[in-house]
Amino acid sequence: MTAAPATMQAMQFDGPGQPLRMVIRPLPEPGPGEVRVAVRACGVCRTDLHVVEGDIHGTLPIIPGHEIVGTVDALGPGVSGLALGQRIGVPWLGHACGQCPYCAAERENLCDAPLFTGFTRDGGYASHAIADARFCFPLPDAFDDCHAAPLLCAGLIGYRAYRLAGDAPVLGLYGFGAAAHILAQVALWQGRRVFAFTRPGDTQAQEFARALGCQWAGGSDEAAPEPLDAAIIFAAAGALVPTALKAVRKGGRVVCAGIHMSDIPGFPYADLWEEREIRSVANLTRADGLEFLPLAARAGVRTHVEALPLAAANTALARLRDGQLTGALVLVP
Ligand SMILES: [Zn+2]
Ligand SMILES: [Zn+2]
Repeated sequence: MTAAPATMQAMQFDGPGQPLRMVIRPLPEPGPGEVRVAVRACGVCRTDLHVVEGDIHGTLPIIPGHEIVGTVDALGPGVSGLALGQRIGVPWLGHACGQCPYCAAERENLCDAPLFTGFTRDGGYASHAIADARFCFPLPDAFDDCHAAPLLCAGLIGYRAYRLAGDAPVLGLYGFGAAAHILAQVALWQGRRVFAFTRPGDTQAQEFARALGCQWAGGSDEAAPEPLDAAIIFAAAGALVPTALKAVRKGGRVVCAGIHMSDIPGFPYADLWEEREIRSVANLTRADGLEFLPLAARAGVRTHVEALPLAAANTALARLRDGQLTGALVLVP
């Protein structure tokens, strides 16, 4: 009698216009330098929505999900620094080449030959995932599995955007979802004043922002009550770029934190004049993660999450699209 082969289950994406579907695959073995992760929770990120809606194009078919919390359940040859059973996080940057000019300049977020978890290598909408061991992070004990998941992209890439916004005592956040609710807490802990801009009429998100300690919350169609030192745009609406530019003071900076945005409408040069800046943020470096994750614990960040079963991935994506949630959604296999 032979034992049934070990398998894993995953929600697979075959192409734009098609819902994710549950698949059963043989349990993969980690290659050199890789680990196999038994997934405990995987956050649902707006980037996943951009993937399934065809706004950005990666490998197909693909298992989405790049906010993975799990335990190491198999080690490939040559892995050091991770142990069987250890709890780790797997982020969006799944691999960088280590040799291109960007990697050599400590800008691996811009690597010429990267792999992205849940986009160009299979991710965490699954019971198991394979990850490059060098790109996994240890996770602070302060966060349980579901509450840790949104830190791995919303938190981490949000933090990179926050860092690049510079020393801004008065900070505006446009789009108050998973990333903003985390970064608002970090900013407040650091003594900054935070102004939250939501979809017009989204009083629930505005109340949520005020409950977290934001000084002001209103619709993105409302004028800021005072000039902002910097603004971070987490929403995918390009029209917010000229809006935010108008809200920042002389020398202020607008940081676009998403991987995809609708087109940015034209605007008068006078709105950019006086050394205002617009910049984007791409991906993350491992240094960002090693800095941010312990900081989130020190700052006492509390992520607001709602857990759904893995099989409900399509529902989770639909709810994210429709904006029907507070904080972040997390899939549990
Ligand atoms: Zn590289
Ligand atoms: Zn993400």
